[in-house]
Amino acid sequence: MAPNDKKNNKKDDGLIRCDACPVLCRIRPGKAGACDRYANVDGKLTRTDPLVLAQKVLDEDGHMVPFAAAAAGWDGSVVSQAPTFVTGIGATTTYPDYKPAPFIVSGEQDGIDMVTVVSEGIFSFCGIKVKIDTDCYIGPEPSPVRVGGEQVGHVTTAEYGSQMLALGGVRHLTGGSKKEGNTTCDVMLRLCNKEAVEMSIDDGATLTVQSGAAPVIDGVQEERMRVGCGSAAIGIFAPQWHGHVDEVIVVDDHITGVLSEHQAGRFLDMPPAGIRVTGRRSTPGRYFQVAEPGAGWGGTDITDPLDIIDRIDAKKAWAGLKLLMVSTTGEDSAYFILDDDLKPVPAPMPPEVRLVVDRIGENCEAALCSVLFVGGAGGSLRAGVTVNPVNLTRSVRSRLARVTCGGAPVYVWPGGGITLMVDVAEVPDNAFGYVPTPALVAPIEFTLRRDDYVALGGYADRIRTLADVMDPENTRSVPWRPDHDWPLDVGKQRDEG
Ligand code: SF4
Repeated sequence: MAPNDKKNNKKDDGLIRCDACPVLCRIRPGKAGACDRYANVDGKLTRTDPLVLAQKVLDEDGHMVPFAAAAAGWDGSVVSQAPTFVTGIGATTTYPDYKPAPFIVSGEQDGIDMVTVVSEGIFSFCGIKVKIDTDCYIGPEPSPVRVGGEQVGHVTTAEYGSQMLALGGVRHLTGGSKKEGNTTCDVMLRLCNKEAVEMSIDDGATLTVQSGAAPVIDGVQEERMRVGCGSAAIGIFAPQWHGHVDEVIVVDDHITGVLSEHQAGRFLDMPPAGIRVTGRRSTPGRYFQVAEPGAGWGGTDITDPLDIIDRIDAKKAWAGLKLLMVSTTGEDSAYFILDDDLKPVPAPMPPEVRLVVDRIGENCEAALCSVLFVGGAGGSLRAGVTVNPVNLTRSVRSRLARVTCGGAPVYVWPGGGITLMVDVAEVPDNAFGYVPTPALVAPIEFTLRRDDYVALGGYADRIRTLADVMDPENTRSVPWRPDHDWPLDVGKQRDEG
């Protein structure tokens, strides 16, 4: 039930009280509360955004219309008879804890009675993981990430071909100053709603991050995600370089690869070229820390690749030796031939070598930012589903209940509680909100068989049909993404599995 029943809203000179979060706004007629999610409309507390339904659109053969085709020209009108999933977007919330979820909707799938419990969750404990596909150095781990001077997170462990940020979290939301909390909440909200956010890293770069968009690092838009580390690039392309060059050095801030020393070069019986790079040798042909991190070749601060050549062994190298130096994305490359003094002299790159350099670029994927929301479904959320909340956790854990976020699939972390993670790119647009406590508001749905729902202590007397609960004046529809599992299938899968 929406938090607008008369019992909970004291009226005074037209003011009404919103009890959908602990802020308890007193809202004047015609005005909205502090979060803009509720307004006083003709003396009635009203959710300002419509409830969002996700609907399957089928062609005449009963096949789903592809998402892009369905989305084009979709005006938000509800399609009658279309298979429909009620999302938590615009659903109102369960706060405070004693209330059942606003929508507990019955449905039928493959002859099985199903229930979807729908709510907007208030997530005090939540954070964001940002994956930035780039070789570029963005700053030291765990350097603070700031927006408007406030710390909103930190640089965390880099992953393969990507830099990672950990943003938000309860420490920044509530553990610092009010300004830090509000800035953190605003940044998380904008990122979750797929907006671009500019941020800076102490002793590092400035970034513009947006879900599904290329990162902009120090004003330069990244295009390519590296094909692999320098060692991996050597392994992948060694046979294609063999016979065309005598040595290849793939410059990388992580692992710089040296072909003739590398296992891949030895396998091809390449003679050692005697060119020693700077840095610490990890294993043959694999070097760490050849330079400082930076915006140069392969995420190093190198702009002249010869700077990482420590020495050339006159007993092994020879005049006329053909040397290729290249970055892990192929964006930087240079070709040299050793002269009689064994000094590398720039030379035009032969077409057969250029072909392989270009192939490195061809094998790079587009550099993107990915924004993943992580939240813990705690007190009021679980109590809105069942009188015995631990049963919900158990049913999620045993896959009797499927959790979704605006219909999008989530990953539920192992261990206790219901800590879920979702790629915001998979969630319908503008699905997230906030309250000024501060905390984020995210849609959440639990779908399970009706008999399982009753057995876990669900609010059986609050189950309604979609037709019963839907207000056509305040409902909007979005197309269902065919790449998402249909949550109501969980009932059949339970029987099969
Ligand atoms: S901040 Fe929003 S949800 Fe909280 S009481 Fe005010 S209007 Fe209601």
